[in-house]
Amino acid sequence: MTGLMAGKRGLIMGLANDKSLAWGIAKALADQGAELAFSYQGDALRKRVAPLAEQLGSDFLIDCDVSDMAALDRTFDALKARWETIDFLVHAIGFSDKNELRGQFVDTSLDNFLLTMNISAYSFVAVTRRARAMMPEGGSILTLTYYGAEKVIPHYNVMGVAKAALETSVKYLAMDLGPENIRVNAISAGPIKTLAASGIGDFRYILKWNEYNSPLRRNVTIDDVGGSALYLLSDLASGVTGEIHHVDAGYNVVGMKAEDAPDI
Ligand code: NAD
Repeated sequence: MTGLMAGKRGLIMGLANDKSLAWGIAKALADQGAELAFSYQGDALRKRVAPLAEQLGSDFLIDCDVSDMAALDRTFDALKARWETIDFLVHAIGFSDKNELRGQFVDTSLDNFLLTMNISAYSFVAVTRRARAMMPEGGSILTLTYYGAEKVIPHYNVMGVAKAALETSVKYLAMDLGPENIRVNAISAGPIKTLAASGIGDFRYILKWNEYNSPLRRNVTIDDVGGSALYLLSDLASGVTGEIHHVDAGYNVVGMKAEDAPDI
């Protein structure tokens, strides 16, 4: 197999179905010759993930709830049992109680604040620490974030706070692991209709707003995200780390509603 990722192996965490950002990324990587393992959360998802993995030539599936540190240890043990080392890792995981992804941030409960921070931000630190031990020659680690970390987006609430923590974690992790030639980056993706996104209040409004007001006047797709992920995970991005790379049709540069934007 030839291609940008020929000879490279890695773990994709967070594939739920063929709408997942992780699917766009996995397809782009496999297309370029990468060998993939997948972790999924719980038996119910295995049924969906297995046929997708098979389409990309992989039968390497590991059950892993990232809020369970013992499960994370088992995941990396399983990975190591089959592959001595890995070259890349994709963390495409986020979670919050959907009852708090509507209404006001001020009403966030302590339990859900901690849960959201744990699964959506801390898990990236926990995963990166374990991945590092399997990257003796260096590697590339990627997570997914959203503009709600930078600016207030209605209903994104505690998820925005967790994404801010995630983005800052990317920078600290990049500094820690840089001397080992392990790069750590994030893609800040524009809104895309996925299972996770369907939990966010008024998500359709967010989609329309971005479509009408971004420079490209469209929403991004999982294939747009996949292309940029391929760049960041391949040697093409060998000089890039600690970066929050926007793949959002340019929306983040815009300061005002577009003059040609229709009413929503
Ligand atoms: P998705 O629902 O397809 O993926 C979310 C994944 O998180 C699922 O596979 C789910 O099983 C996994 N997950 C949740 N809790 C977990 C846990 N405790 N242990 C293990 N896995 C767990 O949705 P998606 O939109 O593809 O989300 C992937 C990432 O992209 C998330 O971090 C999300 O915040 C981010 N993102 C999404 C958008 C968007 O508009 N869809 C935009 C920017 C960033």
